[in-house]
Amino acid sequence: VPLLELDDVSFAYPDGTQVLRGVSLSVSAGSRVALVGPSGAGKSTVLALVEGFYPLTGGTIRWAGTDVRELPRAALRAQLGYVEQEAPVLAGTVRENLLLAAPDAGDDELWAVLADVGLTGVVQRSARGLDVPVGDEGVLLSGGERQRLAIARSLLSHPALLLLDEPTASLDACNENLLRETLAAAAADRALLVVAHRLSTVLDSDQIVVLDGGRVVARGTHAELVETS
Ligand code: ADP
Ligand code: ADP
Repeated sequence: VPLLELDDVSFAYPDGTQVLRGVSLSVSAGSRVALVGPSGAGKSTVLALVEGFYPLTGGTIRWAGTDVRELPRAALRAQLGYVEQEAPVLAGTVRENLLLAAPDAGDDELWAVLADVGLTGVVQRSARGLDVPVGDEGVLLSGGERQRLAIARSLLSHPALLLLDEPTASLDACNENLLRETLAAAAADRALLVVAHRLSTVLDSDQIVVLDGGRVVARGTHAELVETS
């Protein structure tokens, strides 16, 4: 049984905008699935539905075989690490951001997760270490660094499935490479569902699902997709 399964999912926003039409996909434990496609295809909406922001208007989402409508929302969310596209970090320090997810974590654990996302060098550059500010005055962390901090924060709650929305959207090529390494580290012991518009970010996914106009128009590994296009 897959960890996550979308079965013929359709969705219209409350204003009537039909966004998803018969989307089916599944994410097995430990696997990496990427959702790609043009802006407006419905990729972010898929993640929002998994996170439970809106009720489905058609189809079923299952978690480990159980219809999510039968699961307590908090129990499901505890298994998910959802990193939104916008506002990935809060005002405060690196430490405060990380402790939000794991209030009892010690410095060793915090440094370990920062190493996973490639941030230790950045934080060590400041004498303030984990107490580097990241909010409005947080010029010490760039946009890409803040995004990696948001991922680090979600890793600390040990989700079974990481849901990442356009993690590289605002990143330059160098940061994109760092982030690909971050994803590889994050995927070592959990499943990943990643939204991206650049195929380069998700080359090493186990499956790439291409959405267009709210429909799945292709799926396969990168090699398979290149072969058939
Ligand atoms: P096609 O794209 O020609 O429909 P596919 O093999 O992609 O062929 O899909 C066949 C059927 O199986 C479709 O209904 C599709 O939605 C479903 N399907 C394919 N792969 C998956 C998957 N990983 N998870 C859930 N359903 C899938
Ligand atoms: P993608 O992530 O592929 O760019 P989205 O899932 O963000 O696509 O959006 C899909 C479609 O849904 C777009 O046409 C977008 O304008 C529309 N949409 C997104 N959010 C809302 C909302 N809250 N209310 C109404 N329409 C929305």
